[in-house]
Amino acid sequence: MVYCADCGKKMYLCRSKRLNSDQEHLKCSSYAKDKDDCSAHFIRTVVLEEIVLSELRKMTTFVRENESEFIELAMQNSQQKQSAEMKAAKKRLAQSEKRISELDKLFTRLYEDNVSGKISDERFEMMSKNYEAEQKELRQIIPELSQFIEAREQKNVDTAQFIGIVRKYSEIPKLTPEIMHEFIEKIVVHAPDKSSGHRTQQIDICFRFNVAVATAVADSMVYDKKRKAA
Ligand SMILES: [Zn+2]
Repeated sequence: MVYCADCGKKMYLCRSKRLNSDQEHLKCSSYAKDKDDCSAHFIRTVVLEEIVLSELRKMTTFVRENESEFIELAMQNSQQKQSAEMKAAKKRLAQSEKRISELDKLFTRLYEDNVSGKISDERFEMMSKNYEAEQKELRQIIPELSQFIEAREQKNVDTAQFIGIVRKYSEIPKLTPEIMHEFIEKIVVHAPDKSSGHRTQQIDICFRFNVAVATAVADSMVYDKKRKAA
């Protein structure tokens, strides 16, 4: 689930008997195949794991302590505004559907009135054109509204599901493959940045169901210093 930010390909785990676990690393698989295709994006597994674990803990703590704020962020909207928008969209959808069937009836009546001579051909022509135009417009609006409502409802379900997963783990002592899959959609590793004088790397952690993205900076030097101090 770890990807290169530049080519989008998976990062490839380099592990060998020569490397101790501290030296195990990931590199871009395009680069591993052909060095001209991308750059290495080299990152040590221990450094990446520490970042992911720390961001995961931050996220789960935030969700536990600020659940309604988290929902608002995930939905990119306040709950109040959301429910108002939803209500308006559902109302408009129902109205549009009703108007379409009304227009069908009106058209039939118009046709009958024209046949019986109650209205002229000219008037029939004009009115039927208006009805058709109105119906056409409504037929375009309906799928848009339905999609909007569906997407919102799905996002609601997804956010609730994510909160459910957070509740399942009262604490995260270490990263396990199970925890990674439960919480994280993908991890994106950026190319190293040496502008600060030493090597740092931006890491994006995309949480499951697209509820949030955390961005952190991996710093191998900081990691090693901490390890030495410990
Ligand atoms: Zn790449």
